Formats: sequence, C-alpha cells, structure tokens
Amino acid sequence: MNDLPLTQISTIRERLRRLGAQSLHEQRILRLWAQAKPQDSGRRPLESFMPTALRNALPELSQSLANLLQLQSAHPAQDGSIRWLLAMSDGQTVETVGLPRDGVCVSSQVGCAVGCVFCMTGRDGLIKQVGSAEMVAQVVFARQHRPVKKVVFMGMGEPAHNLDNVMEAIDVLGTVGNIAHKSLVFSTVGDPRVFERLPKGLVKPALALSLHTTRADLRAQLLPRAPQMSPEELVQAAEIYAQQTGYPIQYQWTLLKGINDTPEEIEGIVKLLTGKYALLNMIPYNSVDDLPYQRPSWERAAEIARTLHQRGILTKLRNSAGQDVEGGCGQLRARHFLGNKPLDSAVPKMTSMPNSTMIKVTVSPKKITP
Ligand code: SF4
Repeated sequence: MNDLPLTQISTIRERLRRLGAQSLHEQRILRLWAQAKPQDSGRRPLESFMPTALRNALPELSQSLANLLQLQSAHPAQDGSIRWLLAMSDGQTVETVGLPRDGVCVSSQVGCAVGCVFCMTGRDGLIKQVGSAEMVAQVVFARQHRPVKKVVFMGMGEPAHNLDNVMEAIDVLGTVGNIAHKSLVFSTVGDPRVFERLPKGLVKPALALSLHTTRADLRAQLLPRAPQMSPEELVQAAEIYAQQTGYPIQYQWTLLKGINDTPEEIEGIVKLLTGKYALLNMIPYNSVDDLPYQRPSWERAAEIARTLHQRGILTKLRNSAGQDVEGGCGQLRARHFLGNKPLDSAVPKMTSMPNSTMIKVTVSPKKITP
C-alpha cells in the first residue's frame, strides 16, 4: 500500500479505492470522519457490506487521519471562543478557532503572501499550503470538543491562493460533512479566480470579502499584494455571486483610526454598497505600540455604523472576539517561534484578554497615507 501522507482528500479517496472501496464505502468513511464519528458507527455490521481488505485497513486509516493534527496548546477566551494551536504531521502549525454559536474558523495556509500591513500571518510570506484533508481535520478536531454548524475560512492564509485544496475541503464539508452551504464562508481579499471558480462548485459557500477601504490607492497600500481589482470591480463581481447563490456578501472592514474611518469613506461605502445584497462587518482595530495604526473609539465606530445604517447600509459593528479581525490571525503561531521561548511563556493568556487581538509585530511599519 502506498503510504503517501493523507493530507489531501484526493489521496484519501485514492487509497480507499485501492483497497476496493466503492463510491458508497468512500462516502461513508469520509462522512463518519468529517462528522467526528467512529468508523464502526451504525447498526449494520461492517462485515455485511464492506470488502475485507478495506475493513481490515480501517483502524490504520483512522489512526492516520487522527494523526493529521496534534494539539499544541488551547487558549479559551471569555466570549466563548477558543484558539487551538495544532501541529500538522510535518511539524508546521496552524491556528484553528472555535467560535461562539457553534462556529469554527479554519486556516488554509501557514503564512500568507498577501502581506496586509496589519496582519501577523502575512509578515513572513507564504510558508506552506494546508492540504484539504488538513482543513477538514481542523473541523473534525473542533467537533471532538464542541458542536460545529458553521465553518469560516478566515484563519491564517488567503483561501484564493490555495483554491484547489479549499474547494475540495468545502465540497466534503458541504456534502458528507453536514454543514449547510450558506454556513461555509469563504473569506478572501478578492481574486478573479474566486469569482470564476466558486459559482462552478457543487457546494457554493457564502462569500466574505475583505474590503477595508473604498479607495483603490489606499487599498493597494493596506493590502500590498492583493490582486489589483478596484473596490468597484470587487463589489461588481461579488454582487453577481450574491445573486447567483442567494446569500448576501459579507464585506469585512477593519476600522483604522484616521485612515478608513473618515467621512469620505462613509460616502464611498454608501456609493459602493447602496442597493447591493450585502452586509458590512466593521471591526475596530486593536492598537499595538509597534505599529502606527490606532483603534478608533467605540463611540466613533458606533457613530459610523449608525450613520451607515441611516443611509441604508446594513452594518454590524463587532468587537474582535477570537479571530474576527484578520489582524489577529497567526499570533499564536508567531509567538510559538518567538525567540525559541517555550510556548507557555511565549503565549499570553487569552483568558486575561478577551475580545482582543494581541498583536506584537517586529517589522518596520509602512507609512500609510490617509
Ligand atoms: S489579513 Fe488575511 S489576507 Fe491579509 S496577510 Fe493576513 S492572512 Fe493574508
């Protein structure tokens, strides 16, 4: 038997087929795994319907799937979220976050090539593509600890840069994984490949689009290596997808004081999103000493949200619980490698800082022109 690591769904399927699995066996095994149930679940004995070679291989296969991720550390927060740092079989680590209300946030890459100036994950560029099975395994891990009804691809990485793996994971989760299609959220900075591929998938996830500004020049500074699509082009492409799927687009906006909280931006948002099938999630940034960006006051953020509401834009103001704000992703992993300190001393206790993104960045900040 070929012992390629089972990091991708396609490799798992291939191995099962070589053991004599037919489509129904394959789906059953993937279903029980994705739903975190034992492979001998069900009333019918395996002997009555599964080929012997496949049946005999199940314990080893289950073990290989269980070995895809190992818990390194867990960090509960007071808002009900919990961050897990999980090691993959090659030793690289990802962050997975259990969210309040039965959600889980999955990482699709280690590192990220987009390089958003306020994000820890983007600091060192792309380190590794996470395999589709490693993404489903993050959901399986979460399900072993709490119920999961919603999966958001908002953890470390840009899903558009690992599209085949993300689509494969979404396909499994949205079929045998028992997650409603609209409860799978593909989060992206916007990429032409996303708008081309997503409508063709068997499972069509909801779309979250990190907009952050209505100004193309400012967006190019904040998200330096995002595809060069203007905010107008992004909204136009996203609107087509919203109409195709029947789900509103979730626009993400990290509020940076004096940069994208201006009256000009409010006008820009009204112009851009009026009449669109959309929801705007505004998340005030959490300030850190090393960066020039500041968090606007909650009052100012609430005033912006209120104004937008009055102008007809459905706006939700959120605090950055767990991983809600992109600036929070990758922090546990970054701290894991800080100065080779043991993890316990390198990771601040999440429990003491609920609803916060504890960013510590050591790169020289870029100057952003408001
Ligand atoms: S915010 Fe998202 S897209 Fe931007 S660098 Fe971080 S992980 Fe990548």
